[in-house]
Amino acid sequence: MKLLVVEDEVARAEALSEILKRNKYVVDTVYDGEDGLAYGLTDIYDCIILDIMLPKMNGIDVLKTLRKRHISTPVLLLTAKSDTEDKINGLDSGADDYLTKPFVSGELLARVRSLTRRKGEVVTDEFTFGDIALNKSTFSLSREGQFVKLSLKEYQIMELLIANPKQLIPKERFIEKIWGYESDVEYNNVEVYISFLRKKLSAIGSSVIIKTARGIGYYLEGGDAS
Ligand code: CA
Repeated sequence: MKLLVVEDEVARAEALSEILKRNKYVVDTVYDGEDGLAYGLTDIYDCIILDIMLPKMNGIDVLKTLRKRHISTPVLLLTAKSDTEDKINGLDSGADDYLTKPFVSGELLARVRSLTRRKGEVVTDEFTFGDIALNKSTFSLSREGQFVKLSLKEYQIMELLIANPKQLIPKERFIEKIWGYESDVEYNNVEVYISFLRKKLSAIGSSVIIKTARGIGYYLEGGDAS
C-alpha cells in the first residue's frame, strides 16, 4: 500500500516515513502544501497523512482542493493539541480522521489501518487467491504448506496483483505504486520481477498464473482452491 506524508518539519516527516516503511508501506514524503496537492492529485495513494500548518498552502486548503477535484483518498490530518477549530474545520472539509501531535507510532498505524480498510482493501496479515496465500509479515508465498520467500519488490508486485484479483493492472501502475511517481525505472524491470514471481509460483506447485496482456500489463488467473 502506498502512502503520502505531507509534513514540513523534516525530522518529524522522516520519523513518520520510517515507521510506515518499517510496517511495509510504500511512502512518498513532501514538505509543503503545493507539493502535497500535486502528489495527492495523482490519485495513486491509499492514504494521505497531511499536516495542517504547512508552507505555501495549508493542509485544509490542500484537502479542500483535493475533494473539489474528486480525489477521495482517505486523509488523516495532523493537528497541534490546541487546534480544536482546525479539527472541526478539517473534518468539515473532507478529512476522514485526525491525529493530535505528539502521538505514538501505534496510534498512527492503527489510524492508517482503519482508513485504508474503509477503502475496502484487505488488511489482514494474509492475502489469498486461488490456492495461494501471501503473508504480509513474513513476505512469503505459500500453497498447502509449501513456502517460498519473496524479495520486497516481488512482495509488492504480488500484493498489488492479489489485492485486485482478475483485474488487469497496467505496467505504469506497478511503477507508480512500487518505484514511485518520479521514478525512471524501465518497463522491463517489472517484467523481470514478474518472471521471478512466475518461477516462485511454479516452485510451490501453484496453479495460479500471472497472465500478460501484451503491451498493457498483468493479471492473476486460475488456481481455484475448491
Ligand atoms: Ca507543520
